[in-house]
Amino acid sequence: MTLARPAASHVFHRHLRNLPETAVGGDGPWLIDAAGRRYLDASGGAAVSALGHNDAHVIGAIKAQLDRLPFAHTGFFTSQPAEDLARRLSGLAPPGLDHVYLVSGGSEAVESALKLARQYFLEIGQPARRRIIARRQSYHGNTLGALAAGGNLWRRAPFEPLLMEVSHVSPCYAYRGMAPDEDEAAYVARLADELDQTIRDLGPESVAAFIAEPVVGATAGAVPAVAGYLKAMRQVCDRHGVLLILDEVMCGMGRTGPLFACAHDDVVPDLLTVAKALGAGYQPLGATLVHRRIHDAIEGGSGFFQHGHTYMGHPTACAAGGAVLDRLLDDGLLARVPGMGRTLRRILDHHFADHPQVGDIRGRGLFLGLELVADRKTKQPFDPALGIAAKVKKTALANGLICYPMSGTIDGQRGDHILLAPPFIMTDSD
Ligand code: PLP
Repeated sequence: MTLARPAASHVFHRHLRNLPETAVGGDGPWLIDAAGRRYLDASGGAAVSALGHNDAHVIGAIKAQLDRLPFAHTGFFTSQPAEDLARRLSGLAPPGLDHVYLVSGGSEAVESALKLARQYFLEIGQPARRRIIARRQSYHGNTLGALAAGGNLWRRAPFEPLLMEVSHVSPCYAYRGMAPDEDEAAYVARLADELDQTIRDLGPESVAAFIAEPVVGATAGAVPAVAGYLKAMRQVCDRHGVLLILDEVMCGMGRTGPLFACAHDDVVPDLLTVAKALGAGYQPLGATLVHRRIHDAIEGGSGFFQHGHTYMGHPTACAAGGAVLDRLLDDGLLARVPGMGRTLRRILDHHFADHPQVGDIRGRGLFLGLELVADRKTKQPFDPALGIAAKVKKTALANGLICYPMSGTIDGQRGDHILLAPPFIMTDSD
């Protein structure tokens, strides 16, 4: 018997005192619980389920691969689904990102990127380059390396003593960060100067990489960088021989319109991480796209990347990733994102543009966010003790809506936002 909400559970849940309902089925953008209640999945969980919950093509590809070969360890073999997925992704990626390191999720993709950056500098004879620079408003995953890179103080706090040292600079967050007398160009120049100065203070010869999300997801609710920001950051990195890692775990794979969010800014990173919509929830899948410069340095040096996971390049997960790409590209789902995004944005503007507790509406494509404030004029966040994000989540669920409200730390202050990242199959009536 499936219980709607287990009375007791041997699963170690996220919330130990407040067990969730049991999900039993999916119908396009809808999830169904054991009591038969339907929930419109307007955030794809956490920007994962880009194809909804019962895509026949992806399910078929997974079943076919299971019949053929579920798994082969990459220490011994490669597999056709992994080869095909890597070839297709590198063909679609910004120029130079020719190689793809296939893993099981976003944190693993970020860990791999950090280690690739480090090992690259060892291979090319710059062993002092070990420092990572990230931004205060960021989330890069929960494993220790990725957590250390992230700037979310609340997520970091209990584990601070375990985290490697990372320098954090200001995010590009126009709503709160841009000064009243600044235009976007001046704001970008100030942020570029800050990164430049941080690298100089650390000593450029000690810095390996700068990591950033092109559109900030979980910590801020879909905050896109202002025009010119990523280009300016790329230039600062180049000036000092520092690698640029763009983390598109949440905003990549079409979520903002183009397949890769950095295409908006015409910037090519050295390492690019994707996950979430890559497997779209059908299989755990992540990837680090690697510039040929880094790949070739390791190939021509030690010839071995000192890393690896049992489930990397998992054939069944990669088959799912290939089928997701079919749906995005061949079946036109990617092309729906800008139009559906404009529709959703119009709806949000209509209902919330003048709402006294909505300070900002922002985002790109089907990746949109509302920032909740106690006072619109002063932008004063809610008192964290009120637990606004948790209350919104609970109320939405009770009303059959899955959205992704979070409290983030914004330059020392807790703030609340709601992230919307609906499946690309969403219709106007949904
Ligand atoms: N990077 C970003 C930008 C993310 O948003 C997340 C997850 O939300 C991660 C990394 C970590 O991904 P995962 O939860 O799949 O490990």
